[in-house]
Formats: sequence, structure tokens, C-alpha cells
Amino acid sequence: MSEELVPTIVDLDDLCDMWDPYDLLMTLKENDPSFKITLFTIPKKCSKQLIRKYAELDWVEMAVHGWWHTTGETLSWTHAECREKFEQAWRMGIRANGFKAPKWIISDVCREVARELGWYISDHKSNRFRTKHKDERVYITDLRLRNSNEMRIHGHTHNVTGNGIEEAFNMFLLPRGKFEYRFISEVC
Ligand SMILES: [Zn+2]
Repeated sequence: MSEELVPTIVDLDDLCDMWDPYDLLMTLKENDPSFKITLFTIPKKCSKQLIRKYAELDWVEMAVHGWWHTTGETLSWTHAECREKFEQAWRMGIRANGFKAPKWIISDVCREVARELGWYISDHKSNRFRTKHKDERVYITDLRLRNSNEMRIHGHTHNVTGNGIEEAFNMFLLPRGKFEYRFISEVC
């Protein structure tokens, strides 16, 4: 009998033209053909070509990561502006229906717009006890559930905070055939 596969969710922040880890992701895919990943993508820092390149891959999902990726930018967005940004990002091809704020600094407006559109919010561990609306979709990064063997692996497209895909490559390079990869959109 084959061993039970470990459900595994991998995500990277900060996909943009400047930080494009394409070759490293290809190496992970070659290492395990079942590999899948969610990439949090910075809409205003991506060329059409970059988005098209990833949109073609059925093992990659792009979610929205801020707009310009400036610290606290989400705090000034009105409801209409936030909704327009989410929809514009979707039209650009960033279509996981998920959002993460740069540095985790997110407003209630963003949460509300996400809820209206049926999008998930990827949130920080420190927010895991927030009271949630019944329709909210939330993915808590790095969470370890006591009675689950699920793995959540989070990093960056560039070398920062020690979890960049290059600097921490061994954290992402898991043995083939032991893990069942899932997009964030599949688990929240
Ligand atoms: Zn970021």
C-alpha cells in the first residue's frame, strides 16, 4: 500500500518583473511533477509578458499582492477603488481570486471587497483569532494545525527574510511522491 500523501500548500510573495523565479520553479516542477504553487503577484510591477508566461502554467496560480507594493497602501483605498483594483488585476490575468496585502497591512475595506467578490485573503498568523464574517475566505500563512499533517510553506521570489526561493531552496525541494500539492484557493 502506498503511503498517505501529505497535503502541501506552497506560496511565494512578490512576483514581478524584477523578481521572477521561473527557472527555480521549473526545477521544482521537474523534481516533482505534481508540484503546484500560488504566487502573490504585484500587479503594477508586472509586464503582460510575465503574467502571460505564468498564466499558461496550470500548476501556478497567481493571486494579487498589493498594487504598487508600497507599505500601507491598502489603508487609503476606498471601497470603489479597492474593488476596481481587484477587478483590474483579474482582467490582467491574475486570477486566483485571492489577495495578500504588502507587509500584511490590510484594511477592513479590503476584507469587505474580497468577501463581496468571493475572494480569499491570505493573512498573518497573528490575525488567526479575528472574528470572521461567515462568508469570509481566509488562508492563514504558516499555520500548523494540531490534528492535521498539512504543510504550509511560505517564501519569497527574492532573497529576503531568509525564505527566498533561492536562499532557502532546500525548504521547497521536497522528495518526490510524498506530497500532494494544493493551491491556496483549494483550501480556503
Ligand atoms: Zn510583499
